[in-house]
Amino acid sequence: MFDLPALPYEMTALEPYISAKTMEFHYGKHHKAYVDNLNKLAKGTEFENMPLERVVKETYNKPEFAPIFNNAAQAWNHNFFWHSMEKNGGGKPEGGLLAKIERDFGSYEKFREAFKNAATSQFGSGWAWLVEDTDGKLKVVKTSNADTPVARGQKPLITLDVWEHAYYLDYQNRRPDFVEAFLDHLVKF
Ligand code: MN
Repeated sequence: MFDLPALPYEMTALEPYISAKTMEFHYGKHHKAYVDNLNKLAKGTEFENMPLERVVKETYNKPEFAPIFNNAAQAWNHNFFWHSMEKNGGGKPEGGLLAKIERDFGSYEKFREAFKNAATSQFGSGWAWLVEDTDGKLKVVKTSNADTPVARGQKPLITLDVWEHAYYLDYQNRRPDFVEAFLDHLVKF
């Protein structure tokens, strides 16, 4: 059985940037539905008792397992997303991570621009990520629908959900404002 992990903060913690109402739907309905669907689909299969991340990797790019991949990857992505934010977050990281960002992007501001571009230009549903690639370099990547860098062996450092369900109640069509709020007030590196 796969579980819906508790949120690392209260439903109201990210207000006014993400409302409790958005959290109630996003975590309580959307995220829960991925976990519930995964449990139904995995029941009686080889995936039933596997760690979630392994299910994601083993079902990646296999059309016959697409429904399991989609729900497992969305469950993993959301677990990671909630931990990419905190109350009074946002702004520059510190220490070793800042040094790596400066090494690989030139500056924090250039990283910020790259992340904002990825998150706003992802067409349709998807995710924006800061990852450590297999060669050790930090990269900004975007993925469509449930797709996740974890499936390709990249190590996610932060992610932002840019499916409409993540921001529509609070921002309607203004995805760039949601991305700015995430970077300046919510992100937890
Ligand atoms: Mn979502």
